[in-house]
Amino acid sequence: MQWTVRLEARTSAGEVTTTELVTFSRPGVVSTLAEIGLMLAETKTLLAKLQASMLCGQVAAYAAHHRVCAACGVLQPLKDRRTRRLQTLFGTVEVEAPRFKVCRCRQPVPLAGVTVSPVGRLLTARCTPELERVQAELGARTSFRDGARILEALLPVSPANHESLRNRTHAVALRLEAAGRQAAAEVTAVRDDTAKAAAVDAGRPVVMLDGAYIRAVPGHQVRNFEAVCGKVEREGHPTRRFALVRSVAEQPHALLRAALQGQGWREGDAVTAISDGDPALPALVRSATAGPVEPILDWFHLSMRVHHVEQVMRGLCALEPPPLVLPDHAQIDVERLRSLLWNGHHEKACEALGRIASWAKDAVMPNEPAAEAKFRRLAARCAELRSYIETNEGALIDYGQRSRAGKPISTSRAEGTVNQLVNARMNKRRQMRWSPRGAHRVLQVRAAVLDGRFRQQAIQLAA
Ligand SMILES: [Zn+2]
Repeated sequence: MQWTVRLEARTSAGEVTTTELVTFSRPGVVSTLAEIGLMLAETKTLLAKLQASMLCGQVAAYAAHHRVCAACGVLQPLKDRRTRRLQTLFGTVEVEAPRFKVCRCRQPVPLAGVTVSPVGRLLTARCTPELERVQAELGARTSFRDGARILEALLPVSPANHESLRNRTHAVALRLEAAGRQAAAEVTAVRDDTAKAAAVDAGRPVVMLDGAYIRAVPGHQVRNFEAVCGKVEREGHPTRRFALVRSVAEQPHALLRAALQGQGWREGDAVTAISDGDPALPALVRSATAGPVEPILDWFHLSMRVHHVEQVMRGLCALEPPPLVLPDHAQIDVERLRSLLWNGHHEKACEALGRIASWAKDAVMPNEPAAEAKFRRLAARCAELRSYIETNEGALIDYGQRSRAGKPISTSRAEGTVNQLVNARMNKRRQMRWSPRGAHRVLQVRAAVLDGRFRQQAIQLAA
């Protein structure tokens, strides 16, 4: 049996041309399941021929249309015939790109010989925007090699190599970043004081920030470099992720500012920033907003340090025989720490820590070596927590109250973003090493892909 696919093209003037694309053959009566229906290889050939036929027809019509002089309506003389190659999802197509001599009516004598190439003006890139978008999305979702293999397995696209995927991902990232800088520059300011007051708390955007380490390529000055990841949440707006490698981002604060702008934030509106105690993170938010920022120390990081103190204390209590000098008040102080900090009484927590530490230091001498080590560790953990509290004093709040109001108190959601953005694509287990620039660019596309804003934005970028 044979099947022939013919393409019928009809121009707007009603002219019809028919082109034979492909013929598929099969035994008259099949004997296996594998012989039934279209094969992938046949489909690729069919798509490639269909694409070439459509595309060449469109480009030829475009060239013919622009051959007519816009001023006098006469056909401009042909100078020469050239060809151009265009990469598409359905194969690379070679198209005719004729050059014409500029019409006499528009040609002053000294400019004789000036030519125009309309097709050259149409083909502004070497590939279609759709191919670029698909390659960049795959490059952001998976490794460049895997992405290239997926494309090659399913479509007649060429070239489907990993360099091409990487280049396209980088190119799209640069445009996303430029669009971000533009959005950041277009942020409007709140002028009206009543609007400002209304925005104070109700719909205040919350920025959650966290850092992630990425393995650097050999030869780089450091083994690992940091990417700042986070998300901006605001009631009534879809969550927006952002990520950047500070050393290579052209304007790191502009990327965050663009993310805020995407949430309807205006300059002058207050922003809440939750982070882990690294002072660089709220500083980034401050430079992005150039306005009021309410910093909050992530409850999870604070709670972990309380946990360390509790753990050593539990170890002391569990000693057999129990240390003679273990008084009730020290245990009570340790037990109160968590609730003091949860309820915003960090000064009382520091006093309690001071008492526990000084008691633990005094208790070191008369005890057994096993207990002695634990007493020393308890004093050290208390000192650590105390200095962490003092360093972050301005970012400590009444967590209980905020939590009861249903507002976020932790960057745990930002850590989820780190996993989605960085670990799933740049994870150490994948044995991938990155240049800061390469990682930064992939992160731009990946954040846009995960947010679901990539397709729409990519179309705008291509326009
Ligand atoms: Zn003319």
